[in-house]
Amino acid sequence: MELPTRIEVSGGARLLLIWADGAKVELSAEEVRRGCPCASCETFPNRFLLPTVQIVDVEQAGAYGLRFTFSDGHNSGIYRYDYLKELGLRDEYRSI
Ligand SMILES: [Zn+2]
Repeated sequence: MELPTRIEVSGGARLLLIWADGAKVELSAEEVRRGCPCASCETFPNRFLLPTVQIVDVEQAGAYGLRFTFSDGHNSGIYRYDYLKELGLRDEYRSI
């Protein structure tokens, strides 16, 4: 799997990923938090999430993804890069 060449969190509020082929994913912290792929969020989606949720930390999770720590304290999800790409595409479709 191809890794992004650039990973940027601006102001805790937005995540930007850019790949060498020009693919680009931009998501709000809220969208990333809502898309959390951990078992507990998949079972009980967090409907009461505050839109002000922020990304307070981001770290590499193995070779294939990222782990975020959010301002609500949650950090169980491992986000594979291809999953983040998918989330970004979903976001694009929504805004059309
Ligand atoms: Zn989760």
